[in-house]
Amino acid sequence: MGKITGFLEFDRKVEEYAPVEDRVKNYKEFTLPMKEKELKDQGARCMDCGIPFCHSGCPLGNLIPDFNDAVYLGKWEKAAEILHSTNNFPEFTGRLCPAPCEEACVLGINEDPVTIENIEKNIVETAFKKGWVVAEPPASRTGKTVAVIGSGPAGLAAAQQLNRAGHLVTLFERDEKVGGLLRYGIPDFKMEKNIIDRRVKILEEEGIIIKTGVHVGVDVLATEIKDQFDAVLLSGGATVRRGLPIEGADLKGVVQAMDFLKQNNKRVDGITDLGEEIKATGKNVVVIGGGDTGSDCIGTSIRHGATSVSNFEILGKPPVGRPEDQPWPFWPMRLRTSSSHKEGVERFFSISTKKFIGDKNGNLKGLITSEVEWITQPGQRPILKEVPGTEKEWKCELALLAMGFTGSEMTIAEQLGLEADARTNIKASEADYKTNVPGVFVAGDQRRGQSLIVWAISEGRQAAYHVDTYLMGTSYLPLKGEGDLPRV
Ligand SMILES: Cc1cc2nc3c(=O)[nH]c(=O)nc-3n(C[C@H](O)[C@H](O)[C@H](O)COP(=O)(O)OP(=O)(O)OC[C@H]3O[C@@H](n4cnc5c(N)ncnc54)[C@H](O)[C@@H]3O)c2cc1C
Ligand code: SF4
Repeated sequence: MGKITGFLEFDRKVEEYAPVEDRVKNYKEFTLPMKEKELKDQGARCMDCGIPFCHSGCPLGNLIPDFNDAVYLGKWEKAAEILHSTNNFPEFTGRLCPAPCEEACVLGINEDPVTIENIEKNIVETAFKKGWVVAEPPASRTGKTVAVIGSGPAGLAAAQQLNRAGHLVTLFERDEKVGGLLRYGIPDFKMEKNIIDRRVKILEEEGIIIKTGVHVGVDVLATEIKDQFDAVLLSGGATVRRGLPIEGADLKGVVQAMDFLKQNNKRVDGITDLGEEIKATGKNVVVIGGGDTGSDCIGTSIRHGATSVSNFEILGKPPVGRPEDQPWPFWPMRLRTSSSHKEGVERFFSISTKKFIGDKNGNLKGLITSEVEWITQPGQRPILKEVPGTEKEWKCELALLAMGFTGSEMTIAEQLGLEADARTNIKASEADYKTNVPGVFVAGDQRRGQSLIVWAISEGRQAAYHVDTYLMGTSYLPLKGEGDLPRV
């Protein structure tokens, strides 16, 4: 701990945003950089706790007090080394993570927590700027081959770890470019895609073979892949979208959020062959679903120039602060307001969409909702009840369904004879990531269901350790939180 009184001297400060009227004119990231002195002061706020609860909050077990201290001391290269020892891609989590570490930070008990995520982003961006992030190919090869199927954060992290262990890794991706939801779900205003490209270039320089446009299970049988490789890791995500099977759901203008977001990300990437255009321009947009996907639809619709954007959430409005029954250091269910929410949306809670209304040409022109309440009884699941007399009609020409994902696709599982749970997550325990078929492993959303980037990276790293152990009998890859670096 460099500065013992840091947390008493400095208030929390994070990067500010460009004004709304400027940022909604384009799809670029809009955070404003902080001065080095300000970042060092933020690092100095860390108390280097005897029991750093931030570690337990972080699914990667990031060595947070160590890199905070290095930043305070201006040892940026050391900070980058510490950060990369537990996290392959801090540039993704530093921008996109909801930061469970900050909710668990001890300072957060009676003060604002340390700005861990912002420090993380600035460490890795400094490292890229200074040229410290370079390819580190393995010193020797084991002669073993591994297929990683799916190139989201789980697949990318696993591929890099397995390559470091000396295995020859082939990463299969059915889309044109790698990145999974980082590339085709999350909009550029949250993370510009050159951030993925510069990292993928390093992975290729390290020797990972990347095959895009290959849909495993369709273009090539999963059984063929299994025969050709010594081990297979599945990281195909939870891609089955939840629908809203109500009257009018087939009207033109009722669109799955992922179709809308994926098309827009491709448009921003300069792709012109996009099929039927889905745009919010000049429309009254209703985004159904109050999570990350819904928030991304809001920011995108506003950038399209929607006439109005409303957001419906079926759950009740959570409190702004930490609820009493969810004490520190647990992750609290409180109202989250994203940068997109601040760009001009009206949010409605405890509201259920009952029916879509179309015109005579089959185009969406409105929808009907009613208010709902949740009846809770001790020991029982909450029951949803419609509030009588609250029906309301809304004008709406574009409804975006952002209600999450129900599980993973079953094609590969059927071809390989893999067991799945009732939600179609492929079965494998967190203890070893092994499926019921020897030599086949699974990580990320395809195993745990719809989750977070930080969990995907964590699972990719953990699974890589177990694939390596399966191939070699032992593994020198680090497990969760095992940074192999001395303290600064
Ligand atoms: C719109 C949206 C916004 C989000 N925002 C955030 C956020 O801000 N912060 C956060 O932490 N999390 C966010 N998430 C969640 C996060 O993106 C996911 O939890 C994470 O990407 C899961 O990583 P993954 O590697 O398991 O799978 P994915 O990222 O889903 O990647 C799976 C990849 O596998 C490929 N694939 C699937 N099947 C095959 C096959 N048979 N052959 C070849 N390739 C295949 C897919 O094309 C895809 O590229 C968001 C999710 C969405 C949908
Ligand atoms: S819990 Fe907070 S104050 Fe304590 S070591 Fe972690 S980041 Fe620093």
